[in-house]
Amino acid sequence: MAVSPEALNRQFEYITEVKRLLQDRFGDVPPKAFTHTYGCQGNVADGERIDGLLEQMGYEFTNDPSEADFILFNTCAVREHAEERVYGNVGRLKKFKETNPNLVIALCGCMVQQEHVAKRLKSHFPYVDLVFGTHVQYKVPELLWNVLSTGERVFDITEDDNDIAEGLEVRRNHPFKAFLPISYGCNNFCTFCVVPHVRGRERSRKYQDIMRDARQLVADGYKEIMLLGQNVNSYGNDFGENELFPKLLRDINDIPGDFLIRFMTSHPKDCSHALLDAMAECEKVENHLHLPVQSGNSEVLHRMNRHYDREKYLETVAYAREKMPDLSITSDIIVGFPGETHEQFLDTISLIQEVGYSALYTFIYSPRVGTPGAKMPDPVSATEKQQWFEELQFAQEQVASKQSATTKGKTFRVLVESRNKAGRLCGRNSGNTMIEFDGPDELIGTYQDVLVTEPLTWILKGELA
Ligand code: SAH
Ligand code: SF4
Repeated sequence: MAVSPEALNRQFEYITEVKRLLQDRFGDVPPKAFTHTYGCQGNVADGERIDGLLEQMGYEFTNDPSEADFILFNTCAVREHAEERVYGNVGRLKKFKETNPNLVIALCGCMVQQEHVAKRLKSHFPYVDLVFGTHVQYKVPELLWNVLSTGERVFDITEDDNDIAEGLEVRRNHPFKAFLPISYGCNNFCTFCVVPHVRGRERSRKYQDIMRDARQLVADGYKEIMLLGQNVNSYGNDFGENELFPKLLRDINDIPGDFLIRFMTSHPKDCSHALLDAMAECEKVENHLHLPVQSGNSEVLHRMNRHYDREKYLETVAYAREKMPDLSITSDIIVGFPGETHEQFLDTISLIQEVGYSALYTFIYSPRVGTPGAKMPDPVSATEKQQWFEELQFAQEQVASKQSATTKGKTFRVLVESRNKAGRLCGRNSGNTMIEFDGPDELIGTYQDVLVTEPLTWILKGELA
């Protein structure tokens, strides 16, 4: 599963080579990199590792693509809309190539791991120099060396599940919140989802590697650690361990220090009592569970290959609430899965009312190449699906405003994150709800108690307690 030390060393040698080549080419003014990540937190974590490699090769970073010598889009494939945005944004890069002939344009991530996408980039976007898939990310130094030293285009979407590269330096985007991947890939093959096709089978990182990283993050002063996996609950199954994730939570919780733990994503089919007990007992684990249900109808769930039904999901929610009465639960919903009827969709509406989610991420179904869903008959029109989608959003607005009304007069401990557009400080409470309030900049990066004075649907307004 892990990349061999020899293979990693080879990349370290390429880092030195690229650095030398860039120094020859750019002299005393270091080359600039513009990198942008689309999609989920897992992708952001990948992007931070790639940035770490670029930094070691001598790149400085810029937020302005027009002054960059290296542009990288780290792409997402989960819905068509995400892919269309990437094609549009890549198209806009052509003009930069005309003014800067040294510019290297690169794409990586889930979208380009798909063969039809790599082919289209090769034939329709001749100014794209480098394309690399999700399995070869740690080889960026070698791939970039090949582009820079030959001037040829390089495309590498090799699939290889022995791709866990430990010990790489990460360039983190956030000063006090950190992503910590615990596993890569997915074994679940939900029939709508492209992830297992572009990320490969589930590979868990070694327990001691995760613990080492967690201790280091705490020592470095990080205030929030988010553990990442497509299904954190099956962490360790690939090396024959069951229920290892609750133990991991407990062990990270036991690291001395003032920090919080979040995790994403927890698949309902594996969300065990052991996990919920661990959540309830670990004081550093936040009071928030993201438990994507996708649909409230058992027949639809069966055709989605989710391996749970409405009843099983509701039982899990009931147990979670019994253990953690104030638990905030959020979810993902897909509207208009092929063959879904309006009646079945109404089961989703009733489910969200029954559960009382504090927030929902809602998506209209998007057919993905190579998935079983894309071949299922899909008679409902896009206009109808849009109407259902709006019905769902309306229903959730009602649920969320009812939920938020209950917070009036309550005090929450908030990790202060930044100043928002309204010029107020803001941060999330343990349930992951955003709260804004007035205060000085020095509070950013600290925990503060905030009293809710005016709960709105999507944000709570408050004051320092
Ligand atoms: N591993 C996570 C989900 C990762 S994808 C889990 O199992 O919960 C994030 C969300 O995108 C999914 O929960 C789903 O709601 C949505 N999604 C995935 N594929 C989609 C598709 N083809 N069309 C619309 N939404 C999709
Ligand atoms: Fe996709 Fe399902 Fe795996 Fe989540 S569990 S990544 S939705 S296949």
